[in-house]
Amino acid sequence: MKFTTEALSDRLLRIRCPGRVFAYLVLGDERAMLIDTGLGCGDLSAYVRTLTDLPVTVFLTHGHLDHAGGLVGFSDVWLHPADRAMLENDSLDARYDYTASSLAPGETVDRSEFLPGYTGPTHDLLPGKVFPLGGTSVEAVALPGHTDGMLAAYILPDRALLLGDGLNSATFFFLGNSSVSEYKEVLQALLPYAEKTDAALYSHPHNYGGKEIIAEGVASCEDILAGRDDHIPLPMGEARGVEIFASKAQTAEGRNADGTAANIFYRPDQAR
Ligand SMILES: [Zn+2]
Ligand SMILES: [Zn+2]
Repeated sequence: MKFTTEALSDRLLRIRCPGRVFAYLVLGDERAMLIDTGLGCGDLSAYVRTLTDLPVTVFLTHGHLDHAGGLVGFSDVWLHPADRAMLENDSLDARYDYTASSLAPGETVDRSEFLPGYTGPTHDLLPGKVFPLGGTSVEAVALPGHTDGMLAAYILPDRALLLGDGLNSATFFFLGNSSVSEYKEVLQALLPYAEKTDAALYSHPHNYGGKEIIAEGVASCEDILAGRDDHIPLPMGEARGVEIFASKAQTAEGRNADGTAANIFYRPDQAR
């Protein structure tokens, strides 16, 4: 089986997809919501049918291929319009290459297992949109930075906030177009959610951190802007031909040396 599921509660399931990426399934009384779809390795829509008979709406946190790669088989798809063009640039080869380079131990992958690209429509998903599912709900919350259309998902009654790739312990902020000062404002606007959140959730298994990560992210932005962050050069920048710095020094295990969780990977031109 390509997918495995862990129940975080009766109504919130975490689906592990090939390529070390999570999708989440929120079960209501009347509808279900699938948040993200992995890389399109294996038939996720058929798998979701084994988990629920309810009609399924898809919420994409953003347009990157490791989140929007498994859309085939779904029809009610929502995505921020700023990330819509990413779906058209998606290719099976790119999804295969990403998955093959991100396999979990013991995981194998074959090109023939990949779904084709999604050519169907998407609905525009804007911050503030709430999806009532019957006894549960999912709200889209603005979190631009990693991409222009990045969204967090606030899930009730679990009081869970999926921060996804938008803010985590290895935030690929350098992939986006934002400045650090813009991102700081985004995170400040997100702070009220920490007060009504019990669990912060992420899209990749190496990410960690509780809801305090939002305040830590604000502090990290302030440090970068003041030139007093740890400013650690990252080897991944060399392969990409661009300088990339981590705001926090990390241990060999990839954890922040100072015990916090938020770490922002940024380009020098974004430090404004
Ligand atoms: Zn991403
Ligand atoms: Zn991702």
